[in-house]
Amino acid sequence: MKTKGILLVVSAPSGCGKTTICGGFLNKYKDISYCISTTTRTPRAGEKNGVDYFFVPEKFFKSMIKQEKFLEYAKVFNNFYGTSKEAVLKLLDNGNDVLIDIDTQGARQIRKIVPASVQVFIMPPSIKILRERLTNRGKDSKEVIDLRLSEAKNELEQSRFYDYIIINETVEASVEQLRSILIAERLREKRKKRVIEKLLEGK
Ligand code: 5GP
Repeated sequence: MKTKGILLVVSAPSGCGKTTICGGFLNKYKDISYCISTTTRTPRAGEKNGVDYFFVPEKFFKSMIKQEKFLEYAKVFNNFYGTSKEAVLKLLDNGNDVLIDIDTQGARQIRKIVPASVQVFIMPPSIKILRERLTNRGKDSKEVIDLRLSEAKNELEQSRFYDYIIINETVEASVEQLRSILIAERLREKRKKRVIEKLLEGK
């Protein structure tokens, strides 16, 4: 599928700071849209329906799968997560760039559907730091942290399928690196065909 806007896909193992980086990026730079995912996970403290996710029961999510409402979906940590096909495609068709924050299974599906998508993988500086971040954020039990750490190691292996790697040393630096990726992608020759044609026509 060809798209007018750029589909920026961001993945990272849990605890790598992806949510903070994407949030900081979207707050600072307003020329890209974010698409909220749908999930069957229960909201964490402070999370709001329609802001962080659309929180739905599993039965409802499965009916959405049947109705082909998702561009991609995956089961992550025993919960389903999916990207709205209609919302993303409408924005891209209108020439908007769109950021989606999805896991590696979802990114793999997107690579097939939208080959021109730009895929960014965020890594922790070290596993030690990742463990500390997961523990310090105090959101999950020890069992869940262990599960997330072993899953993180599997996910890190998927990084080779991505176009860009950001090592999250600081949120500020990572936000700027994500910005640089977007700017560079916008300047690609293949995305400037129309401008070049016009110039060649002497316009
Ligand atoms: P969390 O429960 O911590 O918010 O997210 C868990 C994982 O699900 C993260 O890796 C996040 O990127 C991923 N995720 C969030 N939304 C989607 C989605 O729409 N599709 C897929 N495949 N993964 C998602």
